[in-house]
Amino acid sequence: MPQDKMIGIDLGTTNSAMAWVDEAGRSAMIPNAEGEFITPSVVFFSESEVVVGKNARTVVTSHPEMVAQWVKRDMGAPFYSHPIRGNYLPPEVIQACILRKLKADLVRALGPDMQAVITVPAYFDEMRRKATADAGEMAGLRVLDIVNEPTAAALAFGEALGYLSADGKPRQELNVLIYDLGGGTFDATLLRLAMGKVQTLATDGDVQLGGHDWDQRLVNYAAECFLKTHSLDPRQDPATLNRLYLDAMEAKHTLSARNRAVIQINYQERFAEIAVTREQFEEMSADLLERTSYTSRQLLGVAGLEWKDLQRVLLIGGSTRMPMVARMMQGISGIQPDHSVNPDEAVARGAALYAGHLLAAQAGRALRSTFQVTNVNAHSLGVEGIDTETLRKKNVVLIPRNTSLPARHTERFATKSDGQRSIAIKVLEGEGSQPGNCIVIGRTVVRDLPSGLPKGWPVEVTFEYGTNGRLAVEALVPGTHHQARMELVRETGLSNEGMTRWKQPVSEAGGFSAFESAAQDVLHGAPSSREASPSGIGSAIGWAPAKADAASTTTATPQTLLAAAPAPLVASPESVQRWASSPQPLTALSPLPVGEGQGGVRLIKQTKPKRDRRVPKWLERTIGHGIMLVLLAFVGYLMISNLRPDLLKTNSGRDSKPSVPSKPSE
Ligand code: AMP
Repeated sequence: MPQDKMIGIDLGTTNSAMAWVDEAGRSAMIPNAEGEFITPSVVFFSESEVVVGKNARTVVTSHPEMVAQWVKRDMGAPFYSHPIRGNYLPPEVIQACILRKLKADLVRALGPDMQAVITVPAYFDEMRRKATADAGEMAGLRVLDIVNEPTAAALAFGEALGYLSADGKPRQELNVLIYDLGGGTFDATLLRLAMGKVQTLATDGDVQLGGHDWDQRLVNYAAECFLKTHSLDPRQDPATLNRLYLDAMEAKHTLSARNRAVIQINYQERFAEIAVTREQFEEMSADLLERTSYTSRQLLGVAGLEWKDLQRVLLIGGSTRMPMVARMMQGISGIQPDHSVNPDEAVARGAALYAGHLLAAQAGRALRSTFQVTNVNAHSLGVEGIDTETLRKKNVVLIPRNTSLPARHTERFATKSDGQRSIAIKVLEGEGSQPGNCIVIGRTVVRDLPSGLPKGWPVEVTFEYGTNGRLAVEALVPGTHHQARMELVRETGLSNEGMTRWKQPVSEAGGFSAFESAAQDVLHGAPSSREASPSGIGSAIGWAPAKADAASTTTATPQTLLAAAPAPLVASPESVQRWASSPQPLTALSPLPVGEGQGGVRLIKQTKPKRDRRVPKWLERTIGHGIMLVLLAFVGYLMISNLRPDLLKTNSGRDSKPSVPSKPSE
């Protein structure tokens, strides 16, 4: 049987790239069918085919409603934010189209036997990671793992500097800051590189900040200049706006090499040439750059390091080509940024090395490059508790973000009231001190506690977070033999039915109609997922949602749960004595609210409120139009009543009840 090729895919917001580990055991880039290492992450849904890459980009202006781009920014949400030919598609389905094209190009170059690692920003939460893995599966890829982009970049860097080779030459330990500014996301990660070891120290980032925001500044600048000259706003027209975005991006690229660029706008038979200097561009985007600088400085503090402890600054992502980035990083770190790996290639190469590492480990094979990777969790994990002094809900963090994985932590809580018979444990992901500012990623319940337990009875909650990104939660009620355990399998995003249905149009070489009919099928079928969503909108695209207020629900599979052990009806007096005399925990856990969770333990995954896109734009627009019509009718009524009151009188006379004739005057 031929050995699977080890593939790395950098699925970028703006561009994607592929690499493999060649016969010599080194990472190497794979060109796409057009002969280029970079494939624009743009999808054009034509009537007869789905076009991905450079050719799709050429129709952005002429057919904006048929083109999807910057989809990565919407990963984890139920819909891609722009309708495609009037249809809302899940972002992972569009990403799957990109991956299918990449897979076809890989098959052309290397043959069909392969397994791939796909990269994501370190700051992606579990929902977005799962959506990425789903996209790979829909594209027919065998996805070995999802790996963090900075980790992949560090591997490529480690390879370039000889840190991964088993040549026995000792190399100095390096603290490396990886500054990754792509088209749509920003990540800053601190790593320690030693011979054969890549250890993540801390990571932070912004999934809503990237080169696209710099483009936007230029777009607005140019549009405002045009507006001033011609009293027309070119941003009103989608096709002109798309053209403007492309021109702004071109101008931005020019400004990386030269001091001046020109943006042309042709709108409603008016024309303008707007010149921008590099200085102006840097000024209008200074706050964006400052956001990345702030995150980098914070990160260093979190890792307990100072700039003098840093040996290298590695810039990756296309947007780091803007001179302002290297200048700012050199300014704050005192280190000249490293250019030993190509910023466009580092991530794909590193992902391929990681794929090689995983496949070799599976097969018990030795590789030319040997290494060990340690990661951290990008988001804190905690439990919703009640402060026993203020009685306010709070997020009690058990595994703070940037903890090295695997991690395990136990925290002591207490029951909230006398005679409490159940304990609800809500698992939170996020940094907020208030549970409302975090995402609820799971729940478990300890039921049927013995009667007569006094208020403040201890409950021990343990989190165990594995290197595979799986969280196990255990709750133990000492002295009662009651416990619950669950493994949070983050089965969020598309439901199984949704996946199966969407796979079909993605795998077929057809045009948009296949996607449209999948959207209709999922809208009118998939009863199980529709039941779960009162609004039915999320499920319309096969997305597994939870409650009306945002989210997705999955029921824990029986094997992930340990049933509560049989318990004595009343806690033994000695154990009451023993636990009552130990220090009182400050945080209480509530019982299960009445009527909730009757069907057993549920695992619930929610989207961040601000990213909830359950009310699609078309619905918002329709409501908006309705309100406009009512207002217009009202204004019309006022005008008629002022200008032609006689008309209204006649009408009201006709519509009203017959009036009693007045007495004829005598
Ligand atoms: P990536 O997601 O890493 O492929 O990065 C894509 C982003 O890099 C896009 O926003 C591009 O406009 C930007 N980019 C690529 N080349 C340059 C350049 N020469 N100057 C400024 N930005 C660039």
